Amino acid sequence: LLALEGATVRFGGRAVLDAVDLEVAEHEIVCVLGPSGSGKSTLLRAVAGLQPLASGRVSLDGCDQAGVPAHRRGVGLMFQDHQLFPQRDVGGNVAFGLRMHGVSKRQRAEHVQELLDLVGLPGAARRAVAALSGGEQQRVALARALAPSPKLLMLDEPLGQLDRSLRERLVVELRQLFGRLGTTVLAVTHDQGEAFALADRVVVMRDGRIAQRGTPLQVWQRPADAFVARFLGFEN
Ligand code: ATP
Ligand code: MG
Repeated sequence: LLALEGATVRFGGRAVLDAVDLEVAEHEIVCVLGPSGSGKSTLLRAVAGLQPLASGRVSLDGCDQAGVPAHRRGVGLMFQDHQLFPQRDVGGNVAFGLRMHGVSKRQRAEHVQELLDLVGLPGAARRAVAALSGGEQQRVALARALAPSPKLLMLDEPLGQLDRSLRERLVVELRQLFGRLGTTVLAVTHDQGEAFALADRVVVMRDGRIAQRGTPLQVWQRPADAFVARFLGFEN
């Protein structure tokens, strides 16, 4: 579904994404792990069309996305800081992306209800965003990203603001949800427990490059090098 070939992003001459090759198959859940500043968000932004490449390419369904604007790529991105609209209610936030897709008002309202049921916030459409807990806001952001039924859903630290017990519960719910919907997911986290629980495959990034890729078990059992081992918390 998704292929990056030699994808490179530069800021002021520095390659923040350095010739990255990555493929994500349909229905697959891939988690990108890595320390702060390793280029995880930049990778998602490049796929979403929010960050131009210096070289290399991004393809979706075999089509080179060069020059294709973000809203035409059919991908959803849930931002690291969720960026909900505080002045809109929950329903208004979730319906946001649907307006552009030419969905009627009634269909929109029904779809919003379904999505809120899915993320475990039934009947919350009229609630004020500001009155929600962090975990509830995160669920609203997730519903909003799911709303246009993107062929690829990208999540940047989807559970980042939450405490450990809530994260552990939500990660299980998310995995079930994506399995049920058949969603293809590329998610970023710096939390290995979360990545290992969510992903079919993990990718470990270091300084804009992929240091290792494999199933959670492969990476856990055989870290490719000292960097990955240290990142996973093993003593050398
Ligand atoms: P975190 O875990 O902290 O979110 P990250 O892996 O998502 O980190 P990125 O946000 O992709 O990291 O940033 C990678 C590097 O690129 C960082 O060194 C950052 O300072 C730099 N960077 C990101 N965006 C810009 C920008 N717009 N201009 C200049 N440098 C940038
Ligand atoms: Mg980031």
